[in-house]
Amino acid sequence: MGKASQVSYECQACGWVGLKWVGRCSQCGGWDTVEPVNRRLSPVAPAASLVKAQDIDQVNATPGVAWPTGMAS
Ligand SMILES: [Zn+2]
Repeated sequence: MGKASQVSYECQACGWVGLKWVGRCSQCGGWDTVEPVNRRLSPVAPAASLVKAQDIDQVNATPGVAWPTGMAS
């Protein structure tokens, strides 16, 4: 439930930041200058999942590894 609140809105003209989108910046008065931006923390999560995916790929490429299929012979 915290994901939605991680998005903030920043005015590209003056740098004003708000938690909800507005058509007109209340600080500099510019129209359509406010755009949604992600917090700096966001890029960390995709990088972590990328490493995880690489690890899974290495496991798949390793020969001789018994897959836990649950079908014991
Ligand atoms: Zn502004």
